[in-house]
Amino acid sequence: SIPYYDAIAHHAMRRPQSLAAVDLATGRRHTYKAFDDRIARLAGSFRSRFGIGPGDRIAVLAPNTTDTFEVQFACGRIGAIFVPLNWRLANAELKAILADCDPALLVHDPEFAERTQELGARQLCPLGAAFEQLALDGPRLDKPVAATLDDISTILYTSGTTGRPKGAIITHGMNFWNTVHSMSMAGIGRSTVFFGLLPLFHTGGLNVFSYPVFQVGGTVLIMRNFDAGEALQLIGDPSVGITHVFGVPANYQFMAQHRRFGETDLSRLVFAGIGGAPTPDAILRTWAAHGVILQQGYGMTETSPLVLVLDKEDAVRKAGSAGKPGLHMETRIAGEDGAEVPPGTVGELWVRGPNITRGYWNQPETTAAAFTDGWLHTGDAAMVDDEGYYFIVDRWKDMYISGGENVYPAEVENVLYQHAAIAEAAVIGIADGRWGEVGRAVVVLRPGQSLSEADVVAHCAASLARYKLPHSVVFTDALPRNATGKVHKPTLRLQFGDAAAGYDSRPQAG
Ligand code: ATP
Ligand code: MG
Repeated sequence: SIPYYDAIAHHAMRRPQSLAAVDLATGRRHTYKAFDDRIARLAGSFRSRFGIGPGDRIAVLAPNTTDTFEVQFACGRIGAIFVPLNWRLANAELKAILADCDPALLVHDPEFAERTQELGARQLCPLGAAFEQLALDGPRLDKPVAATLDDISTILYTSGTTGRPKGAIITHGMNFWNTVHSMSMAGIGRSTVFFGLLPLFHTGGLNVFSYPVFQVGGTVLIMRNFDAGEALQLIGDPSVGITHVFGVPANYQFMAQHRRFGETDLSRLVFAGIGGAPTPDAILRTWAAHGVILQQGYGMTETSPLVLVLDKEDAVRKAGSAGKPGLHMETRIAGEDGAEVPPGTVGELWVRGPNITRGYWNQPETTAAAFTDGWLHTGDAAMVDDEGYYFIVDRWKDMYISGGENVYPAEVENVLYQHAAIAEAAVIGIADGRWGEVGRAVVVLRPGQSLSEADVVAHCAASLARYKLPHSVVFTDALPRNATGKVHKPTLRLQFGDAAAGYDSRPQAG
């Protein structure tokens, strides 16, 4: 099989002085030469100091830092498996993940020194002075172990939106094909200056587009944690020169709500990608009114991640679509029996291709259940139109049935977001004696606005069929979101679903 090729070493050889990575939190800027040297010394240190060898896992628990990328590429050079961890999880959840992947070394931000004591990792390495010493003075590893594209590069845990996070196995080959997709779909090249809005423990932060940009010798900028105002300032700054950004809808929504939005010059952006969760039309329109066409993309951790992207020239005509499949991707909309359904019919999206996981770490049953003949069942309800454009409708698990009709909460949420007084909205199905299930809207108002339940329902009635209308509306201060910024429906159901009581649906002021 095809050897894994370390692109950082390649670009350090070809264009040593070009800028590889910028850590906005610390102001550190690494040229490819410096980046390569640090990675080589870390690889040597991991091996000699910590005894790490091929197949061992190295986990990282840290807010975004370029150090994380260095660990990622150092792992590649010694054949170790890189495991970025979601630091927003509770310790009990992290413990379960560590028990699952059993890392030989846990690299962590000093901020988490106390937490890591509890996690029971075999060896620890704090970022900061100790890590810098390894990266600057450690023994260089100049002969990386021979790995192939079939070898595992990463265990990447899913976001845990529908259940416990699952460790998706990511090979070097999957990363390679994702790079090919990203080049063709988002025009990634060596002059790309990519600014990532998402955490690096998520596929959207790691693989869209950090990894591909390193592969082609471009520049990656990251901030420690997403901050809407800071992000806008950076995007608008001509001396930073950002060409590509990618984020989830929440990132774009929080930027659009920021006072700096109107005065930020966004004209240098070549590609502004949005995905990871259903995209309300209102966000697309707000950004379009400010001259930026947000291009929707669809993907998942298991597909590392790009599956669909909407081209810019289609973005207005096909607003709401997640676009068409990427290079080498096979896609189909499967009905109940797995057979393909005709255009216009909602079914489950199945995908197949070289960028797709072979399965979940330590979970043969979950893996077996997720595939049919090499097709991954995405768990997402989707539809394709006559021209081959895909529309992600919602997650199957979030759909509810009211009076025998399927209702996809995302469609109702989309309408709620169109109301000028509504800042955030989510819909869940709750049990109902007459209809089986009915919708309940959970709404966060914009500051200074007020609405009643009847106002919200009337707004929906103007654009939705009767059976889709929420039967009740709950007003709250903020929606529960996971670390990636996705609304966490299980928590929402706990707070506002059948079992919850005591909320107030009388008219509210935001
Ligand atoms: P878990 O698998 O642990 O429940 P998760 O599915 O949220 O969590 P990710 O792999 O981060 O974990 O997210 C992939 C999912 O995100 C997709 O299956 C889909 O539901 C959603 N998604 C991604 N892109 C889009 C999009 N453009 N529109 C709607 N939903 C999207
Ligand atoms: Mg998932």
